[in-house]
Amino acid sequence: MRVDPGLWRAVFERDRGICRYCGVDLLNSFSAYWSATVDHVHAVAAGGADTLENLVLSCPACNGMLCRSEALLSVEERRAFVAARRDAERNGYEEWVAELRGNFS
Ligand SMILES: [Zn+2]
Repeated sequence: MRVDPGLWRAVFERDRGICRYCGVDLLNSFSAYWSATVDHVHAVAAGGADTLENLVLSCPACNGMLCRSEALLSVEERRAFVAARRDAERNGYEEWVAELRGNFS
């Protein structure tokens, strides 16, 4: 959901370019910056507002994981949900990347 560009920038600056859920630095590359999103902690569909207090900076992966998580109503609950999903889906990820990089070197 799009928010006012001034508000988006205020969220980005308050969170210093860091995804509030996984901690990735969205200023690490232009691609990361370009893909940055803001997440409504209380979903708009559930009455959440476009306010600085209800918005947090999020990378697209975390925002995507949270797209059907209207029941998680705090940053802490949402961060824990993302951490659990990432742990579950990381299964073998580091080894797979190492194998790919090895094959491409
Ligand atoms: Zn993230």
